[in-house]
Amino acid sequence: MNTLLKNLAMVSVTLASSALMVSQTPARYDLLLKGGRVIDPANHIDEVRDVAVSLGKIVAVEKNIPVDQAGKVVDVSKLYVTPGLIDIHYHVGHGGAPLNWFAPEARAHALPLGIPADMALQSGVTTIVDAGTAGAETFLQEKEEVIDRAAVRVLAFLNIVSNGMGGGLEGSLDQMDVKLCAATVSRYRDFIVGVKTAHYWTREPWDPEHVPWAAVDRAIECGTLANVPVMFDFWPRPERTYEELLKKMRPGDIHTHVFAQQFPIILADGKVNPALAEARARGVIFDVGHGAGSFWFRNAVPAFKQGFTPDSMSTDLHTGDYNVVSMTNVMSKFLAMGVPLDDVIRRSTVNPAAEIHRPELGTLSVGKEADIAVLELSKGDFGYIDCGVARMNGKVQLSARMTIRAGRILYDPSGLSMVEWEKARPQYFNIPGLGDSLPARTDDYPRN
Ligand SMILES: [Zn+2]
Repeated sequence: MNTLLKNLAMVSVTLASSALMVSQTPARYDLLLKGGRVIDPANHIDEVRDVAVSLGKIVAVEKNIPVDQAGKVVDVSKLYVTPGLIDIHYHVGHGGAPLNWFAPEARAHALPLGIPADMALQSGVTTIVDAGTAGAETFLQEKEEVIDRAAVRVLAFLNIVSNGMGGGLEGSLDQMDVKLCAATVSRYRDFIVGVKTAHYWTREPWDPEHVPWAAVDRAIECGTLANVPVMFDFWPRPERTYEELLKKMRPGDIHTHVFAQQFPIILADGKVNPALAEARARGVIFDVGHGAGSFWFRNAVPAFKQGFTPDSMSTDLHTGDYNVVSMTNVMSKFLAMGVPLDDVIRRSTVNPAAEIHRPELGTLSVGKEADIAVLELSKGDFGYIDCGVARMNGKVQLSARMTIRAGRILYDPSGLSMVEWEKARPQYFNIPGLGDSLPARTDDYPRN
């Protein structure tokens, strides 16, 4: 008996000393993504490397980082590791819709536009930019309801219309208050990255209260006053042509919905409208903004074949366009057309970061916040659709396997970071006590 106690005591001492040794040499990294093909256009990296994360920051992007230096190791071989994607045309919140939008008399103009911000995480997106759903009078509500609560980073273009979208006031000139717009941008500069104009007087007859360029001109005035870019959603008319819009746009301004049906992208002779190259040479930026009605293969495919690719990919996700599904769906369409993967990643990371003047985003540079997407490129037969109810067949498809925001794994539906259930830790096998409905989750799994 004495011998047994003595042996047990020795075991305890050994366990204690090994525990001590572990605590004396803690893991250098919280998380190590091992063996993935890293594409980080901002740093000209396109090769197999490991990515290490600690305290929410990227701390190393190197070859062959030893696995024993990390608290958690995730095998991402055969997958692509890229900066978290940036979708600069997304819709969150209620825009200008009154809170009682369920009331029958309000519904005609007051459908809620926004979809859940964190849905973006499902396609590798770590930053979304709300494209003018809210204006000066409704931005605070959007900030408190969505921006301050979302796990994904949410930034915004402020609508030149104070009431925002969807409240039925987008045609009212007295809603386009340049000074209020600029003051609101200045007040919330941490969140507001630009100004948006959209949906202004697309088919109604002109009158003294509604002149052709009012929304465009006032948005530019606000952008100039607040020193931020303007994003344009636009509907050409004889008195307000597309070419004139491109001439009005300042360097750094963003033309979203570039392949929408209403723009003369491809001229009658089959050539790309030369106005696009002229505008691009002046610094005008072209964005996809796919949406429910703004992407036609008849514009996109010939334009790409003639060398014109939009500067940034984006979804324009809102409640009316669930067919678009995701950022990776939009990116897949361009991959299927023939745009190389590293170029599609560039136009979904470092390019949009530059467009919204946030160069700290869209990169895996050491020291930056660890926003990371793990993507898979599949080969096979895939169908892609546009907004004209037409299909394009493709041979590749991009999808997200894991999304990491500020070092936390927030999306991992195939369990890349998890253990097989038979090897799960003891509490996994616990039966919860009566009255306790919480599952026995592990401590490192996000509880949202
Ligand atoms: Zn939109």
